[in-house]
Amino acid sequence: MDGAQPGRAGLIRRGIAAATLCLLAGLAGGVAWGANTVERAKLQFSRDELLASTRPMSQVYLKELHGEPVEARPRAGLELRLQRIFAQMLGEAKRLRPSAAQWDWRLTLVHGEEVSPFAMPDGQVFVSTKWVGRRRLGDAEIALVLAHEMAHVIGEHMLERVSALAAARPARNMRVSDVLRMVEEEWHVARELETLMQAQELEADRMGLRIVCSAGIARSQALTLFDKMARADRGQEPGFINSHPELLARKQSLLGSMEARSLGCED
Ligand SMILES: [Zn+2]
Repeated sequence: MDGAQPGRAGLIRRGIAAATLCLLAGLAGGVAWGANTVERAKLQFSRDELLASTRPMSQVYLKELHGEPVEARPRAGLELRLQRIFAQMLGEAKRLRPSAAQWDWRLTLVHGEEVSPFAMPDGQVFVSTKWVGRRRLGDAEIALVLAHEMAHVIGEHMLERVSALAAARPARNMRVSDVLRMVEEEWHVARELETLMQAQELEADRMGLRIVCSAGIARSQALTLFDKMARADRGQEPGFINSHPELLARKQSLLGSMEARSLGCED
């Protein structure tokens, strides 16, 4: 969700790779959720091929980050709120994109280190309770975080990123697994994707806000998320990959009344 890579110490050795690929976690196929359409990479692989290669990564994250599926036990407090809002946003996301209704959507709570929220392409959304708690997010702000991550999944952003890396190396005739291995060994190649990733972030913001507004949540209450994230990030080192546009610029781009109308927001 924000500029930090999802993994740090524990994951760095294993490869920013994995972390980067989470960030490699769009909107392809020329579907426009608003005015902000960009030239997109052509998808070279099937969703099934991507998922076959990324499922093992999910298992690694689950273990390294001390993740736990939200439905594993009864919840209270923040965990219960996350569970409830996830279900609400998912209902709206499925309504807006019926083709994604049967995907394997899951919320996984991260109990280990504080990592930024991220989503795997199969629909597994990882959220650190420490990350949310430290930012003191309200329900509308949590809704936007979760809807943003769902937008990355629905938009098949990771597939688009992997495709772009393969397309840049036609002579190597790469499969998904080859691309993932390459990123793991030479994570800096992900820097090639900065422009695409930034465009995808803006798209996930727009699609996420559309999901939030369709749930009847006030846009103004959700967008304060960016202020809280900016406050929490103050003084932090920039990530290895400059994958995200500046937070307050992201907020600004969602504030216009034209934007509100095109995204179905009333306020
Ligand atoms: Zn994002």
